[in-house]
Amino acid sequence: MQRAWKGKTPRRPALKKTNNVEKDPVGVYCRIRPLGAEDEECCVEMISSSTIQLHAPDGLKANRNGEYKETQYSFTKVFGINTGQMELFEDVARPLVEDLIQCKNGLLFTYGVTGSGKTYTMTGSPGEGGLLPRSLDMLFNSIGPFQAKRFVFKPDDKNGIDIQSQVDALLERQKRDSQQSVPKTPSSRQKADLEFADMITPEESRKSKNIDEDCSYSVFVSYVEIYNNYIYDLLEDAQFDSVRPKPPQSRILREDQNHNMYVAGCTEVEVKSTEEAFEVFWKGQKKRRIANTQLNRESSRSHSVFTVKLAQAPLDADGDYILQDKNQVNVSQLCLVDLAGSERTSRTRAEGSRLREAGNINQSLMTLRTCMEILRENQMCGTNKMVPYRDSKVTHLFKNYFDGEGKVKMIVCVNPKADDYEETVLVMRFAEMTQEVEVARPVDRPIYHLAAGRRHRNQAFKDELSRRLEERGGPVNGGDSALMNQLIESLPALPPCELVDPTDDQTLPRLIEVLEQRHRIRQMMTEQVTHTANKVKFMLQQFDSQMSSKDTFVHDQQSKLNEKEKVILNQKTEIERLEKKSKTLEYKIDILQKTTEMYEQDKRSLQQELEGQEQMLQKELSERRRMEQRMQGVVTDTKLKWEKECERRVNAKQLEMQNKLWVKDEKLKQLKAIVTENSSGGSFPPEPPKKPERPSRERDHTMPQKRSASPTALPGDVFKTRGGGQAVQFTDIETLKQECPTAPSRKRRSGSDEGPAQTEDIENRAPVGGTSSSNGYQKRRRP
Ligand code: ADP
Ligand code: MG
Repeated sequence: MQRAWKGKTPRRPALKKTNNVEKDPVGVYCRIRPLGAEDEECCVEMISSSTIQLHAPDGLKANRNGEYKETQYSFTKVFGINTGQMELFEDVARPLVEDLIQCKNGLLFTYGVTGSGKTYTMTGSPGEGGLLPRSLDMLFNSIGPFQAKRFVFKPDDKNGIDIQSQVDALLERQKRDSQQSVPKTPSSRQKADLEFADMITPEESRKSKNIDEDCSYSVFVSYVEIYNNYIYDLLEDAQFDSVRPKPPQSRILREDQNHNMYVAGCTEVEVKSTEEAFEVFWKGQKKRRIANTQLNRESSRSHSVFTVKLAQAPLDADGDYILQDKNQVNVSQLCLVDLAGSERTSRTRAEGSRLREAGNINQSLMTLRTCMEILRENQMCGTNKMVPYRDSKVTHLFKNYFDGEGKVKMIVCVNPKADDYEETVLVMRFAEMTQEVEVARPVDRPIYHLAAGRRHRNQAFKDELSRRLEERGGPVNGGDSALMNQLIESLPALPPCELVDPTDDQTLPRLIEVLEQRHRIRQMMTEQVTHTANKVKFMLQQFDSQMSSKDTFVHDQQSKLNEKEKVILNQKTEIERLEKKSKTLEYKIDILQKTTEMYEQDKRSLQQELEGQEQMLQKELSERRRMEQRMQGVVTDTKLKWEKECERRVNAKQLEMQNKLWVKDEKLKQLKAIVTENSSGGSFPPEPPKKPERPSRERDHTMPQKRSASPTALPGDVFKTRGGGQAVQFTDIETLKQECPTAPSRKRRSGSDEGPAQTEDIENRAPVGGTSSSNGYQKRRRP
């Protein structure tokens, strides 16, 4: 089959950018190398895992009157002098290799002054492999058993990757083998160049866990050098003429149909192991070194770009061959760039062509700087200035990364020695600025919907088949020729067909007969084979349809499972939410319980208080009742007493009134007697009339007695009336006033308030039947 599918080149989003693309800032790391000599002056200090401080060297400070400030610079991470290659790889390059396997592009470059450790960081030295060998090692450890046969993936000349059938690949392999006299595949670390042997110890080997086993992979590497703004292919198979060295052919940059930049005609070598990749890299390195020596170039002035391209495509439903579907081929690449030294021309004391070189180096790094600045400005201020990628080959080559998508990381290498101080300041400023540039995050590749585990199942099937064949004693491998021989032997033997006599008319007819027999047998066998083949085909078809129905069943189950998983996930989140809620409720309950306890305590104390007060009240009530009872007794007593007293007083009053009446009667009688005497002319003084009996008890009635003793001392004067009669004029009027026994006089009241005592007092002072003057009556004489 001569059909070839073309794979996709590293993706690039549509030119029209949407604003909601997720972006990540360029990761900038700083690595400080140890000082060359211990007594050297150091101008870089690591003050935290992400910050360094630059100290101006003493000489410089003296020169500039101390105008130099001590400045701090922050990075994604700072690696101190004791950082090993492994640690750096884990933090910086490992995620990029993981991304590469996940079909995401990455760019990693080292930047710094010459001698700051860029090459050491990227390439490393024996025993201390740098990021490049470690990345290759991790990549091959991960994809090792899942690699496609050589030439199944095949780079086209337009930055794409073609995919061809196993047969075509096989033919191409055979062609190459026949062209190469010496078979080349070192495939063991011992054979690799000594300088690369043992760069990584087996314990340091890393492997990705996210490999898709149902895909087939192929790795292609390319290695170019950019010198004087020219691009050279370091893997080109051109013989270098040491006698008459002619300048190598430079390459040009092209844009592929997906707008990705690539070095046109650049060699891409398919490699199947770490060792092979090392060898290719080393070949490029050697070429670079030879060119530098022969052409008298300064190695620190070139940029080197090592690109690892990974092509991957899913296996078909049987898990046997790669799916011949161009839409399913994914290509990702990781560029490892060792930039030229960033020092200025003046420092290199360059002359002539060297000066031109240095100028160009500065130019390309300057362009890089300008590009970063404009990118940052565009991103931060929303401007749309043109980024001058095209001004230098380096920036032009990496345009896709900044314009499209991918992960970009930069390791800033620093030599802390004082001589480098001024250059280091510039490097730091560039690095700080670069951190603010953002690059679109690569999107996840869509998953191809075929049942997972195809490769595994296919392998298991093959193993089982060969096991069973072995059991039956059938041909396992290489049994075909024996079968052929057996078959040929079963055919009727050919008669001798040498013709020696021209009249021989038997040999040919015999031969014809035998050949016709053989032909018939062959036809029969062919028919039988066709019949068997059809039968097998039918069986296979049946098997296939069964398999596909099983597949759909499995697929259905899978989707059901996925749904269930989704439900479970939802329920889990619901449970989490409920748990959270229950926690808050528990907390609330806790608070409420505490509040309840407080209230209950309050209630208890209030109840106690209430009980105390009730007891007091009871006590007071009983006291009051007792008092009332006592008071009632007193009141009854007093009432009785006063009733008696009133009775007594009424009696006394009656008596008194009777007495008065009696006095009046007496007077009247006396007057009558006087009147009668006068009218009869009788003797004077008339005989005192017989005193009527006083109506009362024997009491002292002094006044009537006095009056009776002297009739002239009557309270009035007797005179003769004009008519000849007599009249009595009272000169003394007695006013009788009775005091209420219950209302004591004010005088007394003011003296004391006590009722009973008063009563007693009155009783004491007014004994029943006392003298009238002191008997509660007041006598007033009218003037
Ligand atoms: P550059 O590529 O920046 O010019 P190199 O990587 O060639 O610098 O380093 C210069 C020298 O410093 C080399 O001999 C290298 O071994 C040594 N070196 C650089 N970085 C370190 C480091 N982190 N630890 C030990 N040696 C280092
Ligand atoms: Mg270097």
